[in-house]
Amino acid sequence: MFSKKKSKTIVVVGGGVIGTMHAWLALEAGHKVVHLERDLAPQSASIRNFGLVWVSGREAGAELALGLRARTLWEAIGAKSEIGFRANGSLTVAQNEPELEIIRAAAQLPDAQDRGFELLTSNDVKKLEPVLNGNHLGALRCTTDAAVEPSLLLHGLRTAMLANEKYSWHPHFDVVKYKKSDSGHTVKSSDGVKVSGDLIAFVPGAAHKGFLSEYFEGAAIRKVRLQMGATTPLASQLSHSVADGDSLRYYPAFKDLALHTLPPQTGVAAERKMQLLLVQRLDGSCTIGDTHEYIEPFDHEIQEAPYEHLSQVISNLFGAPSPKIVRRWDGVYSQSTSSDIYFRKEIEKGAVIVTGGGGRGNSLAPAIAEETIHAWGL
Ligand SMILES: Cc1cc2nc3c(=O)[nH]c(=O)nc-3n(C[C@H](O)[C@H](O)[C@H](O)COP(=O)(O)OP(=O)(O)OC[C@H]3O[C@@H](n4cnc5c(N)ncnc54)[C@H](O)[C@@H]3O)c2cc1C
Repeated sequence: MFSKKKSKTIVVVGGGVIGTMHAWLALEAGHKVVHLERDLAPQSASIRNFGLVWVSGREAGAELALGLRARTLWEAIGAKSEIGFRANGSLTVAQNEPELEIIRAAAQLPDAQDRGFELLTSNDVKKLEPVLNGNHLGALRCTTDAAVEPSLLLHGLRTAMLANEKYSWHPHFDVVKYKKSDSGHTVKSSDGVKVSGDLIAFVPGAAHKGFLSEYFEGAAIRKVRLQMGATTPLASQLSHSVADGDSLRYYPAFKDLALHTLPPQTGVAAERKMQLLLVQRLDGSCTIGDTHEYIEPFDHEIQEAPYEHLSQVISNLFGAPSPKIVRRWDGVYSQSTSSDIYFRKEIEKGAVIVTGGGGRGNSLAPAIAEETIHAWGL
């Protein structure tokens, strides 16, 4: 005899990637999902990012395990939805000797094989990616890194879910109140509409204030603001995502390597804590970034100097003028500042807040959501 689990109603508040992954996995587990989002279409971090599914940067141990699990889930979800998932891999390019030594050591790490790390010479890089025809000494290739299209992602996932009558999507539903009662978990919108379910996940991204603020009081969590850009389409294909050597400073995978030998960052790169990340989009353009701003109140303006720096780094790597930057935007994410990989708090039995995925929130999203689904025994 098969024992059939009773179908539950799961309320998900937040239409970003982590909320949407909660909806996806709950639906896949056979449950009814009511998905609530304050904006008409989500406008937050999940559509402003690079779309990187970045395994290479994950810290050894639990974070890498979560990253690899997420990578497996992303591939399976990508096969069932129009989100532009591709297992394109990445190149972290060294432009000076200390960077080269660090990527050489990274390729020898005990978990290098799990990540798909491989050290490439400068000639290998030019053969593999003729666009990278400029100054570099070699690159760390990561074959497990992947990418999705932020412009397709949330819509693509929802379109696939809407084919299932157990899923409903409610944009423009700004949750302002939450109450637990004997009949379950109830939220109320700013328009006074009530929605109830057996279980509820609050996945609000960087919205740490409002009706949830009491639960964030004293929490090891902060907001981070980034500046990003998009270029005109490249004339040719760049199949890997690309990171410059500055990225080695920011990703915890490399934290025990000889970072002290790196020359200090200078000028705007130091001021704005910059690295180059570059992903070619399906239309041939490139998403580029980024800067990091940690102290609120954040700058309300888009500063130009970071783009001049990025253009210089790109033209140095390409050995050709950088493509023109035609769009600029910023984004804010929520980041856990403790040793926890992300922020999870059960506020009542069956009601959980999940956020704080930081600059790895897109990469880890399906595995973070899976932890909620498992915790609920679904
Ligand atoms: C510029 C930038 C680049 C990045 N690049 C990458 C990358 O390449 N790879 C990577 O792994 N990560 C990246 N990140 C991080 C990643 O984008 C985030 O960690 C992730 O998108 C967070 O997803 P989320 O669903 O938690 O939050 P969000 O995307 O912020 O979504 C939260 C949603 O909840 C809704 N909401 C909030 N409060 C309410 C309410 N009361 N009622 C109803 N709805 C509500 C909001 O409107 C919003 O749509 C980047 C982030 C930024 C800003």
